[in-house]
Amino acid sequence: MQPWQAHLTFWQIYEKASDVGGTWRDNIYPGASSDISIHFYSLSTDLNPDWPSTHGSQAETQEYWRKLTAKYDLYSCTVFNRLVVSAEWSSKEQLYNIVCEDVASGERFTTTAKILISAIGILEVPRFPSIAGISSFKGEMFHSARWDTGVDLRGKRVAVIGNGASTTQFVPDLNWFLPPIHADYSPSWKWTFRNVPGAMRFYRFLLYLQSEMLYLFVFAHAYIRSKYTVVAKDYIVRTAPKDQLDHLVLTYSLGCKRVIFDTNFLGALRRPNLKLNWDGIQSICEDGIITKKGEKLSFDVLIYATGFTVDRYPLTVVGETGKTVQEYYDSQGGPKAYLGMTVPGFPNLFLIGGPNTATGHTSVILTEEMQINYIIQFVKPIINGLVSTVDVTPRATDAYNDLIHARLARSVFVECVSWYRSGGEGKVSSIFPGPMMLYGWWVRRPKWEDYNVKATERWERKLRHEKWMAFFNPMYYATLLFGLFVSWVSS
Ligand SMILES: Cc1cc2nc3c(=O)[nH]c(=O)nc-3n(C[C@H](O)[C@H](O)[C@H](O)COP(=O)(O)OP(=O)(O)OC[C@H]3O[C@@H](n4cnc5c(N)ncnc54)[C@H](O)[C@@H]3O)c2cc1C
Repeated sequence: MQPWQAHLTFWQIYEKASDVGGTWRDNIYPGASSDISIHFYSLSTDLNPDWPSTHGSQAETQEYWRKLTAKYDLYSCTVFNRLVVSAEWSSKEQLYNIVCEDVASGERFTTTAKILISAIGILEVPRFPSIAGISSFKGEMFHSARWDTGVDLRGKRVAVIGNGASTTQFVPDLNWFLPPIHADYSPSWKWTFRNVPGAMRFYRFLLYLQSEMLYLFVFAHAYIRSKYTVVAKDYIVRTAPKDQLDHLVLTYSLGCKRVIFDTNFLGALRRPNLKLNWDGIQSICEDGIITKKGEKLSFDVLIYATGFTVDRYPLTVVGETGKTVQEYYDSQGGPKAYLGMTVPGFPNLFLIGGPNTATGHTSVILTEEMQINYIIQFVKPIINGLVSTVDVTPRATDAYNDLIHARLARSVFVECVSWYRSGGEGKVSSIFPGPMMLYGWWVRRPKWEDYNVKATERWERKLRHEKWMAFFNPMYYATLLFGLFVSWVSS
């Protein structure tokens, strides 16, 4: 509990499922694990010396979040099985009227909140393809993100449909592969992490640096990217079956989709009971699939590995003008927000994992920690009664988006179809076009002039005072220099 939290009269987390963990509660498919080193894909405040291996399995990662929820007593302020259905800003009352639903009984509840933080995930809503006849299939079928453990796959004819990037751990994926990087930590590594002061934090820092280098060299630098592309190509040619190379060695650049480190998938393609089919699906019938070449293939089970819906905002949140967040996105040609966190016309609404904040090279937990730090700087004065509402200006939102879309237009992300883009081929609305140090620099503190702020005179005085005092603080100039360095490195 931080001191400012003592001012909170009441705060509440609504979770539609029956436990915490989000991604790691839901994605229980065989082999599910983080693709970022787990010492980095964990909270900076809660390092764990006992991770058994470099990449956390689904069970280990879920357990980590469960333990933290208990440690910070968050179970007591979370209402489980409670789906947030909608929220509407009331200009008169200066708060959100929220409608929730008990997922078991369907009973609806209403509540109000001065501040609404949307932390509903990035890869959370499974996406099913629209294929003719999909509902006519008589066998078992499920999405990889909702793995049905009740279905025994032994001896069955199983079709895996699609190439969702997160599911390459168990299915063929049309993507570049780099050599595997998973490894176990020996007892001496764990001993060092536990007993040598600073060792674990330094190791984490190296992982962070490594991911930033990956961005600067692979994503941002075409020449070095071409060298890495050769490494990936060599690996695929050495590892994958020769008759599949035409499909597995791709024409677009490495980095255009999420970079995938092989989890022994390519070797598995040699198994006699596994067949890749690239013909495309015409339709689904009651006992199988009809390909675009007209071939009928019989199956007992269909598994959809077709990824997630990321270009739509799944909650009905109505702002000051009566428009929903989705309507705002539609009017802007796709998801759009200021720093991925605030949307004009939606006072006191903050998004975690909003538009253009995903990354293909680093830990989402790092991004989300940066966002939480930013959001808290608004929450504190609102809770303390110094500020009533904050609403980002359309001008600031447009200027920020012009800046990132100019960067995106010359990036690798426009080279292929991916979930980073609206509808797969449209506006690049998911990914952030830079290393995380750039995002971290931009979101280190709010630029209050980019917001319409309803605040007390005391708050205005406080801001003016802080601005003046900054000029006498040597740290201000050191930070400015650091900012110049970050902007130069990321340009
Ligand atoms: C298989 C998989 C592997 C991944 N691996 C990595 C990785 O290695 N590294 C990385 O950086 N990222 C990875 N990601 C991305 C991952 O989504 C994020 O790292 C992380 O889980 C985001 O956490 P979150 O809390 O924002 O969202 P989530 O974990 O998705 O949690 C969102 C929560 O909100 C709840 N919720 C949603 N809507 C509502 C509603 N209307 N009402 C109430 N509750 C609601 C959901 O039930 C869920 O519990 C992976 C994603 C997947 C799917």
